[in-house]
Amino acid sequence: MSFASEAKSELTHLEVADCCAIAELQGLSIGSFSVGTLRLRTESAAIARRFLQLAGQVGALRPTVSVTRGAGARGRHLYQVCLPEDALTHRKRAGRCDRRAFLRGAFLAVGSVSDPHVGGYHLELAVPTAQGAKRLENALKACGISAHLTHRRNEVVFYIKEGETIASFLQTAGASHSLLAFEDVRIVRSMKNRVNRLVNAETANLEKSIAVAVRQREAIERLDAMGALGGLPAKLQEVARLRLRYPEATLAELGRLLPQPLSKSTVGRRLAAIEAVARDHTS
Ligand SMILES: [Zn+2]
Repeated sequence: MSFASEAKSELTHLEVADCCAIAELQGLSIGSFSVGTLRLRTESAAIARRFLQLAGQVGALRPTVSVTRGAGARGRHLYQVCLPEDALTHRKRAGRCDRRAFLRGAFLAVGSVSDPHVGGYHLELAVPTAQGAKRLENALKACGISAHLTHRRNEVVFYIKEGETIASFLQTAGASHSLLAFEDVRIVRSMKNRVNRLVNAETANLEKSIAVAVRQREAIERLDAMGALGGLPAKLQEVARLRLRYPEATLAELGRLLPQPLSKSTVGRRLAAIEAVARDHTS
C-alpha cells in the first residue's frame, strides 16, 4: 500500500465524537460543493463507507448512494454519496476539535501525500470550488498549518513541501501511525544528508590538496629538468626531494618524514618558495 493509502486507511478507522463527525462530513464534501447538500464523490469504497458511517453516527437521514463506472480506460467505480445538509442542522454547534476533523475529511476526499521515501516531500489538497477553497484556507490557518497556494486547471491547490509542516498536518488530521512512519523517514534522511555534507566537504578538501601536490611536483620536476634543483638552498632541496618521493603525502606527513620534523605550515611555505623559484626560472 502506498504511503497515502496507508494514511487514508488509518484516518477512515478513527473513532470520533459526534461534533467531529459532522465537521468531517463537511470536509469530505469539499470536493463537490453544492448548496444544501453534502456530497462526496470518490473512487475509494473505504472513504465512501466512512461517509456513511459518520452520517449514521450523527443519526442523519440515510444518505443516498450511487455507483457508476468512472471515466477512463480502467473504468474504476465512482461512488457518490449525498446527504441533505439540513439533516445535520439540529446538531449542536461545532467545537474547536472540528477544524481538525474538517481537515481530515478534506484530506480523505481531495488530498494526497507523496511517499517520503521517494523524492521530495509533498502533500496537497486540490479543491474545485472557491467556496470550498475559502473554508479549507480558514481551517488550515486556524490549525496553524501554512500551505502554499496555486491554481491548476479548475482547481485551487493547497500544497506543503516542508517536512515539518507535513508532519504537523498528519498529526492534526489524526494520522498518528503515518506521522510516526513519516518522522522515521525524516530522521534517517536528515542523518544521511548530514553524512553526505561531511563526505562532500572532505572530498572537496582532498581534491584540492591533490591538485596542489600535483602542481608542486610539476614545479620541482621543471627545476630538476633545468638542472636547477641542486642550486636551491639545502632546506628547500630536502623538502623538494621528499615531495617527489611521496607525491600523495599531505604537508603534515611530509613534515613528519623530515630528519628534523617540521610543522605542515613550514613545509607549505617551503614548497611555495620552491614554486616561486620555478616560476622565476620559467618566465
Ligand atoms: Zn469535535
